[in-house]
Amino acid sequence: MSTQQAAGRYAPSPSGDLHVGNLRTAVLAWLFARTTGRRFLIRMENLDRAVEGADARQLADLASLGLDWEEPVVHQTDRRDVYRQIISDLRASGRTYECYCTRREILEAPSAPHAPQGAYPGTCRDLTDEQRAEKIAAGRPPAIRIRAETTEFTVTDLLHGSYTGMVDDFVIQRNDGTPAYNLAVVVDDAAQGVDQVVRGDDLLSSAPRQAYLATLLGDGPPTYAHVPMVLNPEGVRLSKRDGAVTLADLAAQGVSPERVLSHIARSLGLAATGETVDLATILDRFDPDELPRAPWLLHQEEWS
Ligand code: GLU
Repeated sequence: MSTQQAAGRYAPSPSGDLHVGNLRTAVLAWLFARTTGRRFLIRMENLDRAVEGADARQLADLASLGLDWEEPVVHQTDRRDVYRQIISDLRASGRTYECYCTRREILEAPSAPHAPQGAYPGTCRDLTDEQRAEKIAAGRPPAIRIRAETTEFTVTDLLHGSYTGMVDDFVIQRNDGTPAYNLAVVVDDAAQGVDQVVRGDDLLSSAPRQAYLATLLGDGPPTYAHVPMVLNPEGVRLSKRDGAVTLADLAAQGVSPERVLSHIARSLGLAATGETVDLATILDRFDPDELPRAPWLLHQEEWS
């Protein structure tokens, strides 16, 4: 879409402090971008779940690991007009429809024949004018869904290879008027010249929808690298309940950012146990083909 140099990015939601899993993903996104000559960008996905001051703390934490990025850091709340325009264009071209369903109605609706599990059942796809008038009269504000012309889409992922996943009539604007994550992420990546998306593999299943939308909007889908998550010893995604998981928690226990980075590097096979490394060293050693494909099970004792 543009002549700007290709970019990679890290796109956190500023809903609190970054934990070791988020930091590890950020380091990987930086490594992927820097080893492929890309610009590296940070985007704050703050359309919802934003906590006052969390964005600044997240940036400070990323900087304390040694990461650098190109300014400005984009905040999605500054881009509402752009999303509004694109949603309005999609609506004008007949690519969307209004959906009045509640979450519960969706869960309880019989699924359409052959529809993949979890797909929107299509309840509001072909409402008659009369049915629509009834819904409007009931006063429920509609969400906007894309009228998908396919049920699946294939993306290329540097770790998962060719990945085919479900595309349904997903929401692009929530019923409170907020642009949906799946829309904003696609619009922003295209606008920022992002052609390499590195993020946690919990988002792999949303990549086909996003790549489909990117294609519909005339932007090629990016190349993806969905990287393994960090889990607690029980195999559950790392969270605040798991003890010292943020740089602030760890600093309070005498663990420096350098040690956190070295530990992350070890978990990626980029440092030996007990070795202290900086980003320049791991940049030199980074080889995507050698990355561990399994989640990292983080034990608190590892820090002592
Ligand atoms: N903001 C999302 C998150 O923090 C990541 C979105 C993305 O990288 O595409 O989970």
